[in-house]
Amino acid sequence: MRQSLVMGNWKMNGSRSEGLALANAIAAGLKDGDKGIAVCVPYVYLSDVQGATKNTPLALGGQNVADQESGAYTGEISAAMLKECGCTYALVGHSERRSYYGDTDESVATRFCQAQKESVIPVLCIGETLEERESDTTFSVIDRQLNAVIDMAGIDALANSVIAYEPVWAIGTGKTATDDQAQEVHQYIRQQIAAKSQVVADKIQILYGGSVKPDNAKAIFAMPDIDGGLIGGASLDAASFLTIYQSI
Ligand code: PEP
Repeated sequence: MRQSLVMGNWKMNGSRSEGLALANAIAAGLKDGDKGIAVCVPYVYLSDVQGATKNTPLALGGQNVADQESGAYTGEISAAMLKECGCTYALVGHSERRSYYGDTDESVATRFCQAQKESVIPVLCIGETLEERESDTTFSVIDRQLNAVIDMAGIDALANSVIAYEPVWAIGTGKTATDDQAQEVHQYIRQQIAAKSQVVADKIQILYGGSVKPDNAKAIFAMPDIDGGLIGGASLDAASFLTIYQSI
């Protein structure tokens, strides 16, 4: 049985005090022994949230990580820095990074490797645009995004990572993939990994992301290859995020 994981992505939202209040409210809704819940916080609030959530089950993640180890890379945040601020996870390849900031398949793979070098678990985000879905290229897009990482890191590296399948057309749009549409792609991803390593395929958590809300989470999470969710908008409200976590 795979451990489930529900991860919030706050993106570029909220003030420092709002972030702290949100983290405190989420942590207050958790019991000792709860597992599989994390929030990806804006970099500048990570240390504050780390302090506030120490000794609680709420884990932390960065929303991206540099593709270099250290040095003259203005504006970038390294995996070692994330680690020092208490991050267990780092998103890599979120569609907003790919489409607005030019993160390529190759740079996403390099970020993935940098995170793992510091024992930060990369959460590899993959998914097709609406145009790609409508032109029936969903699976080839998934192959391309996944294989870029497998080619650079090797299949065994995936055992210490998480995949988030996020159809771009469902992110922040209120449109969710149907449970069957999501399961079909999750199953495909797991099969592609299984073709290279059954052990890794059985172990890896594959999260669904794209307009997951308290009222649709249960049905999505019930699908056999969906191990949890990456939650954007609904993670900004503690009660909604906790309800989603409790839907697993
Ligand atoms: C996301 O940005 O990863 C996401 C899934 O956002 P939302 O839940 O708002 O669609």
